Amino acid sequence: MTGYEKKTSEVDTSVAFPSDASFPPDLSLVIPVFNEEENLPILYDKLIESLSKLELTWEAIFVDDGSSDNSYLELSKIAARDARVKAVRFSRNFGQTAALAAGIDHSTGVVIVPLDADLQNDPVDIQSLVQKLGEGYDVVSGWRINRHDALVSRKIPSWIANKIISLVSGVSLHDYGCSLKAYRRSILKDIRLYGEMHRFVPIYASWLGAKVTEMPVTHHPRIHGQSKYGISRTFKVILDLITVKFMASCFTKPIYLFGSVGICAIMLAFAAFVWMVVLKFWFHTTFIQTPLPVLGSMFFLVGVQCILMGLLSEMLMRTYHESQGKQIYRVKEVLNLPNSHD
Ligand code: UDP
Ligand code: MG
Repeated sequence: MTGYEKKTSEVDTSVAFPSDASFPPDLSLVIPVFNEEENLPILYDKLIESLSKLELTWEAIFVDDGSSDNSYLELSKIAARDARVKAVRFSRNFGQTAALAAGIDHSTGVVIVPLDADLQNDPVDIQSLVQKLGEGYDVVSGWRINRHDALVSRKIPSWIANKIISLVSGVSLHDYGCSLKAYRRSILKDIRLYGEMHRFVPIYASWLGAKVTEMPVTHHPRIHGQSKYGISRTFKVILDLITVKFMASCFTKPIYLFGSVGICAIMLAFAAFVWMVVLKFWFHTTFIQTPLPVLGSMFFLVGVQCILMGLLSEMLMRTYHESQGKQIYRVKEVLNLPNSHD
């Protein structure tokens, strides 16, 4: 028996639901929506079907990411019937990561479960994810073992990206891109999302000391509407990965990265200079007969630039931490002390 498991109850979905009396709810579902009008009513029915078996209190935060179809109208119809359904509407399309961030910001549940609105994730899996979380994990990530997406433009690039991400991040998951995950709220508190970075939340969380695991989830082909992504997403993911890795490894000391590259470049410049002199005086080759003067000055300039960039980013980093009162560490627990992270 886990912390989140409760006995089964029957819920009549035909009547209007008041907002749940208990606050905060056990579960917040966060659902980014971009032109999914046909999927929303079906998704709501499926959610009710699965969640009624759980007897957890829940809320569903739908974030309409600037849809140009009737998605918001559909949401307002559902929200009028059921106060547990809440909606946030963006002024324009800001992207899935922003929608997810907004949903999390507006949610109150103890556990947060993001999922897609297009019925590719199956709400039936919510139960097992939440139960797994109850076993003592902070993040349970879905793994679409049998993924129903295009092979060449999605599955193969994603397979490669997942391998690279695992290698670079040191966190071993098979499917970062799966939206269906379960998080304890406490772990999301200090995580800010940018770009395509929602997939990296388990990595951030793990770096902050969270216990992360994965479990297989069902994945359905998309029936209504269209996927919003193609192969270009893979490049964004790789670029985001570089940013994440950089932030993690030298965010508090960027001069170490820039400075090391700078010193290497200056050493290469110096080696080019020495070799130039050796060639001239011992092998009678004039400076301009070799590419060494150009190479030497290029390396020298790159080196100086890198060190200056390192200093600049040190200043930026300090401004960031000091202006926002950010800590360079994270406390798990304290004894006989107030916990400033609560
Ligand atoms: N989505 C969004 N904003 C966007 C693109 C997508 O909110 O700019 C939502 C979309 O409605 C869906 C989820 O994000 O609920 C995943 O999108 P999609 O199904 O297109 O991605 P795929 O499953 O093909 O990776
Ligand atoms: Mg989809």
